[in-house]
Amino acid sequence: MTARDPIADLRRIAFLLERANEATYRVRAFRSAANALGALPAGEVAERARTGKLTELAGVGDVTARCVAESLAGAEPVYLRRLLATEGTDLDEEAARLRDALRGDCHSHSDWSDGGSPIEEMALAAVELGHEYLVLTDHSPRLKVARGLTADRLRKQLDHVAAVNEALPKGFRILTGIEVDILADGSLDQTDELLARLDVVVGSVHSGLGDDRAKMTRRMLAAVANPHLDILGHCTGRMVSSRPAGVTGPGDKGHRARTRKESDFDADAVFAACAEHDVAVEINSRPERQDPPKRLIRRALEAGCRFAIDTDAHAPGQLDWQRFGCERAARCGVPADRVVNTWTAERLVTWAASRG
Ligand SMILES: [Zn+2]
Ligand SMILES: [Zn+2]
Repeated sequence: MTARDPIADLRRIAFLLERANEATYRVRAFRSAANALGALPAGEVAERARTGKLTELAGVGDVTARCVAESLAGAEPVYLRRLLATEGTDLDEEAARLRDALRGDCHSHSDWSDGGSPIEEMALAAVELGHEYLVLTDHSPRLKVARGLTADRLRKQLDHVAAVNEALPKGFRILTGIEVDILADGSLDQTDELLARLDVVVGSVHSGLGDDRAKMTRRMLAAVANPHLDILGHCTGRMVSSRPAGVTGPGDKGHRARTRKESDFDADAVFAACAEHDVAVEINSRPERQDPPKRLIRRALEAGCRFAIDTDAHAPGQLDWQRFGCERAARCGVPADRVVNTWTAERLVTWAASRG
């Protein structure tokens, strides 16, 4: 039998584990092994596998070494085969159609802020999913717990993204962006000059989530009226269950269930403003967020809002979580032509630029 690519198999396993919301340390074991092997000169992986010396490498353990041996022998690793056999449930038709219509993702994080992976890894996973673009939206300066980017670091990131884009396959590009904090007075936590330079601006409330209704409404209305804001991120800030429906897995120590109730604001006023200023309402796909709740998605739809169905991925495998957002959007009757990430990169960027 011809040998398979053991590094590709390890990455695939990491991706599937991550998509199933497995603990980070498990995912990391496979990704580290892939990196360790990728750094070796040609032929050395096979040589080490033959002589039983794979596990002498830092980052390669018994399980990953066994996968490598199986790949090299031309067999699909047993670990991979099991994961593929227990993959998530099928989408119903409407949700599947919506998912097929998506060309990219407008909300993602890298290890420049609180994501777990380099920009390159995120981009390659997006390519693998068939996306045409990925908007990189690392956090803004005030969100210190998430290593929010200062103006200086964001400028450096823009240069870095330009260089990474050069090396990516034709037909795909990383779009520049930010998940900018909506501050207490509704202003946005980055300079106007930078906000204007970015392809797409997602704005979210991350602090003072318990503000009273009048204050939160004023705050959100001010942000929505800001011409730099393109997408209103996870608008209620709620945290619900910790695991996506239909995904089961072994006990996950790294995953603590935390819940938080929705912020209180006048949703009809905020959605009317989103429609007026042509700001898209994000349907955040993260299983622990599921934000906004379905009743609010319906109200935003009635208000005439556009939507962005985003993953808010903090790791490559999470980029596939869009299907969860699509399921919820489909249940609320959101049509594909109201979803900005069904557009081409060019149309998306033009739309965002036309707004300031
Ligand atoms: Zn956020
Ligand atoms: Zn985010």
